[in-house]
Amino acid sequence: MSDTISFLPHYDFSPALNTGYLRKILQLMVQHQTPATPINYAIWYEVVTEKNPQLSTAVDVLIRDKSPFDAATSLALYKKYICNTSVASFEKINDQIQTLIGKTSNAIQETHTKADSAQLSFQKNTVLLEHVSNADELSVTLQQIIQETHSLTEATQSMQIKLDNAHQELEKMRQELTHVRQVATTDALTGLLNRHAFDQALAALFEQPHKGSTCLCLLDIDHFKRVNDLYGHVVGDKVIQFVAALMKKHANDQHYVARYGGEEMTIIMPDTTRAEAFTISNTIKNALENSVLKRKDNGEPLGKITVSIGISVLQANDNAETFLIRADQALYNAKETGRNKVVCTDY
Ligand code: GH3
Ligand code: MG
Ligand code: MG
Repeated sequence: MSDTISFLPHYDFSPALNTGYLRKILQLMVQHQTPATPINYAIWYEVVTEKNPQLSTAVDVLIRDKSPFDAATSLALYKKYICNTSVASFEKINDQIQTLIGKTSNAIQETHTKADSAQLSFQKNTVLLEHVSNADELSVTLQQIIQETHSLTEATQSMQIKLDNAHQELEKMRQELTHVRQVATTDALTGLLNRHAFDQALAALFEQPHKGSTCLCLLDIDHFKRVNDLYGHVVGDKVIQFVAALMKKHANDQHYVARYGGEEMTIIMPDTTRAEAFTISNTIKNALENSVLKRKDNGEPLGKITVSIGISVLQANDNAETFLIRADQALYNAKETGRNKVVCTDY
């Protein structure tokens, strides 16, 4: 997967859908007296497309409390739920790096100045040493040289301490960056890669020549609306988490397991044959079918929950879109022909 992190939100709804969303968003903006700024549009867009349940909840709370959509509130929502918190963390780390660079270059400059003055003094004392005529003069000159040496040693030690501190601070920032990178690529509900990371991983596949067989699995939970309707969204979320964990468990280490969106999840499978992709997908499907999921609060079983899975096998003339579309068509086929099954029409 590429190391680059982009914080741009990703939208890929069709033009027709976007036109419908536009109407709804305008209605909502008028209804809730939201200033028509790009940031507010993005917020309502995420709400209307049901792309971002956490943001929707935060907006519901604002509406319930009759809080205004002022610029600061909108920006905070945008940063937190759309660009995710990583932007704030990156800004913080950037500030820390600037401070650290300032401190380190000051320490180096101080030592440099000390070293320059010590060098001048050494040169002067070398000339004096060549011309000393008695023991007293020799003693005074040697005394000066010893003092300069001490002073230079202290300056070097002080710089060493500052450099050690800078090194520790850098290590801390490196750890923070690793954490931020992880947050930026992880889906908060399932711990799988998020949609953005999936898009990057898929794009990366096409940046290098294909070696071996690569498959793509697209999974969708069957009749998931029913699960939400019968047991509520919290239980629905737990079901999504359970399916995600099964996928992670049965995928190989080199696979990219991601939440595509809602109750759809996906696995990019490099170095995997069609037969292997089938085996893994069937294992996930069967494991779920044979699991008895129970509600935590009252122990009541949820009834059978199943998934449908579509697989595409990478072809020489594929791009990311065609590869994904065929997995989606196979998934559609699985749904149309009875659900709770794995379909692959590629060879
Ligand atoms: P099908 O078998 O055709 O896939 O039927 P379905 O009911 O699963 O239909 P569809 O895929 O259209 O519905 C998905 C539902 O998943 C709609 C949405 O409310 C729900 N959903 C999407 N994201 C989440 C989520 O994060 N948590 C919960 N609990 N529900 C979600
Ligand atoms: Mg779906
Ligand atoms: Mg579904």
